[in-house]
Amino acid sequence: MNTSSLPRIAVLATGGTIAGSAGDASKTAGYRAGVVGVDKLLDAVPALGSVARIHAEQIASIDSKDMSAALWTTLGRRIDALLVRDDIDGVVVTHGTDTLEETAYLLHLTVKSTKPVVLTAAMRPSTALSADGPLNLLNAVTVAASKDAAGKGVLVAFNNQIHCARDVTKTSTYAVDAFRSPETGVLGFVQDGRVEFQRIALRPHTASSEFALSEQWPMVEIVTSYADASRVTVDALVAAGVKGIVVAGTGNGSMHAGLTQALVDAVKRGVAVVRASRVGSGHVMRNGAANDDALGTVSAGSLNPYKARVLLMLALAAEVSDLQRVFDVY
Ligand code: ASP
Repeated sequence: MNTSSLPRIAVLATGGTIAGSAGDASKTAGYRAGVVGVDKLLDAVPALGSVARIHAEQIASIDSKDMSAALWTTLGRRIDALLVRDDIDGVVVTHGTDTLEETAYLLHLTVKSTKPVVLTAAMRPSTALSADGPLNLLNAVTVAASKDAAGKGVLVAFNNQIHCARDVTKTSTYAVDAFRSPETGVLGFVQDGRVEFQRIALRPHTASSEFALSEQWPMVEIVTSYADASRVTVDALVAAGVKGIVVAGTGNGSMHAGLTQALVDAVKRGVAVVRASRVGSGHVMRNGAANDDALGTVSAGSLNPYKARVLLMLALAAEVSDLQRVFDVY
């Protein structure tokens, strides 16, 4: 086989369970994430050699529960720098599953290229019996090497499915089938070297997004509403100088009365407040379960609280004034 004509894919490793190691192959929960280097991950998948020429970089070695906005900026800048090169056709990012959906959405809104960017991960450490990482990595590179993946925004290849970064969310603490796109479904499938897209996401992303990476991210936090929720957390956040608050509300973004007054006070002090839902699927309608016009709040639409936080950080960093437009458009 003449491999010089294969697409050249950059694999950027950040850690996670896909790079996890346990002393015992039967362990799928007690392990250390992010300790196996990218070269070893690639060595475990000899079939990659017939799919792409690989350029590998170790960007970080973390458990993705510890992902930071500063690392998002480092990762995003590296992806952009690679994708402007004529000799790089796409990027795969290996990541932990815990915050994968946040990193994927951040990149979806900031990468300035139409070349494929695909995130993947694993639920079982690399040392486990039936580890899922090697096949997920092969499938992610297969998607990134596919011409069909260009211009579709940042993608997540996991367990043979291809998800849109905007819609995908982790829905299981242990299952190998851990990701869903609850309201929209998958974009397509990847299996045995075949990539099949069945739909595309219409909202703007990557090269058509107005947002950019920042060196100075605004402080944006999430509070949850629940029975007996009080104003203590919101007041503490305002005192700490928070710039934006996402509420993981009950139902259609409703908020306990004790919390609502604190949020109205926060809005009066210039804090941007976005209503999302803790439910896990569905939409939060403007002026639905709460009167956004009267409260001065913004509704998150179908973004979950963690993704709403990403969009709010980007919008505040860009000093966007019409926040509801941003949540309606992206
Ligand atoms: N804690 C791990 C991480 O997010 C979980 C995983 O990758 O599955 O890095």
